[in-house]
Amino acid sequence: MKRYDKYDEFNKWYEDVLQYAKIVDKRYPMKGSYVIMPYGFSALKKMKNIMSKLLDSYGHEEAYFPLLVPEKIFKKEKDFLKGFGGETLRATKTFLQELDEELIIRPTSETAMYPMYSLWIRSWRDLPLKIYQTVNVFRWETKMTKELLRVRELVAFNESHTAHASAEEAEKQIKEAIEIYKKFFDEIRIPYDIFKTPKWETFAGAQYNYDFFTTMPDGKAIELASVINLGQKFAKAFNIKFMDKDEKKKYVYQTCYGISERELGVAISLHGDNKGLRMISNLAPIHIVIVPIKKNNENDKKIMIYCEKIKNMFEGTKCGKYKAEIKVKIDNREIRPGEKYNDWEKKGVPIRLEIGEKEVKSKTLVLARRDKLTKEKIKEKNIKESVKKIIKEIDKTIYREAKEWHKKMITKHKTLKDALKRLRNYGGIVGVKWCGDENCGKKIADKLLGSAIGYKENEKVEGKCIICGKEAKHWMYFGRTY
Ligand SMILES: [Zn+2]
Repeated sequence: MKRYDKYDEFNKWYEDVLQYAKIVDKRYPMKGSYVIMPYGFSALKKMKNIMSKLLDSYGHEEAYFPLLVPEKIFKKEKDFLKGFGGETLRATKTFLQELDEELIIRPTSETAMYPMYSLWIRSWRDLPLKIYQTVNVFRWETKMTKELLRVRELVAFNESHTAHASAEEAEKQIKEAIEIYKKFFDEIRIPYDIFKTPKWETFAGAQYNYDFFTTMPDGKAIELASVINLGQKFAKAFNIKFMDKDEKKKYVYQTCYGISERELGVAISLHGDNKGLRMISNLAPIHIVIVPIKKNNENDKKIMIYCEKIKNMFEGTKCGKYKAEIKVKIDNREIRPGEKYNDWEKKGVPIRLEIGEKEVKSKTLVLARRDKLTKEKIKEKNIKESVKKIIKEIDKTIYREAKEWHKKMITKHKTLKDALKRLRNYGGIVGVKWCGDENCGKKIADKLLGSAIGYKENEKVEGKCIICGKEAKHWMYFGRTY
C-alpha cells in the first residue's frame, strides 16, 4: 500500500485517507459535490451534535427555513447580492414550463430567514431572537474544489442568525458567539487564532466580522468560522422592526455566524499522521476495535465468546464532556489480523484490542494505541478504567501535536522580503506591521501573493507600516488561503 507524507504530499495524503477510510466518495458525477459515506457521516453527525448542544445551551433555538428563495427577495440587500450573486444558482424552469417567478437556491440563508423575522418580531419582548439551522447550501465555486474543504454543496452548514434591540446587545452576542466557537473548536481539538477581518474582506452586507483561522499541513491558511455583526443593513432591507419600550418603532440589530463540514476536513488533516487518520474521541465513529486472533481450531469459539464479553463490558460506558458512548466493534472478517490492524490504523480508531488463546487464558489483553502506535498489556479487570484513561491520553497527544504545528505556523516579520520568503518556503500565517490603511493592506497582500486574513484586536504593535512608513496600528496577518 502506498503511503504519503502528510506534510510533503498533503493533497495525495488527504485524498488517499478519505478514500481508504471511506469518509467521502468523490466519484459522484458532478464537480464539487461529494458523497459523504457512513463512516465519515458518523463523525460529521458527532460534530453537528456538539455544535447543536452548545448553541442550545446558550439559548439558541433550532428551526428550518426553505431551500429556495424568490428572486425579488434575494435581491433586497444590495451588498449581499453583490457578494453572493456570482456563485448563486437560479432556477427558472422545469422540463415542461418556465417558472412564473425565478427562484434562488440559498448560498446561505439570510434572505430565507429575514422576511420571516420581519413577521415574527413585533415588540421588544420578542428580542433577542436566536435561531439556527443545519442545512445544505449551494455555492457555484469556480475555484478548485476539494472534499469537505471547498465544495459546491455544503451539506452541514450550521448557521445562526440573531436579532437584538440595541447595538450593544448585538456586540454582546458577537462575544457570546466567539465564546461558543472557542468551546466548539476546543472540543474537536482544532487550534485556532481569531482575527478581525479588514474592511475590504468583510462579509457581504456586514459591519464587521471575526474569523477563526488555522493552518493546514500544506501550509495554506484556512478559515474555520466567521462571526459577523450585520448591524442594521438587513433589518432595513427586510423591514425588521420592533416597538421598543419607549413606544418607538426601531430596526433590530443582527448578527450571524456559521460553520460547516469543512471543520471535519480540517480535523482529519490536522489530527492524522503518515499512517492515516487519527480520530479524537469526540469524533470517532468507533473507539475500540477488537481483533480476534483465531487459529482455526477448537479454541476459536472461546475466543469469540471472550471478545463478545469484553465488548459487552463497555455497554453504556461514556467518555468526554458530551458523554459520547464508547463504541466497540469486533472485526470478525476472514482476513489476516495484520490486514485488519492496518485497516483500522488507517481509519484512525483510537484503540485496538488483540485477543487470542493466550489472552483468553491469562485474562490479560494486548492494547494498541493509535496515537503512538505502541502496544501494552491490560488486565481484564482494569479494562474499562484503562481504556478511558488511554482515550484521554490519545486525545491529548493529538491535540498537543496540532497545537505545536499551529504555533509554529504563525510568524511575525520585519520586512516584506522576509515574510515572502517564509510564505514561499513554509506557508502559514505571516504578520507584518500595518498602518490600518486599506491601500497599504491590499499592497501587502499583492506582494505576498496571498490574502489579508486580519488582525488581532488586542495585540500591541510598535513601529512603522512596512509600506508607507506611517505609525503602525496593527500586526496584520496574511496567508495563502483555501
Ligand atoms: Zn501604511
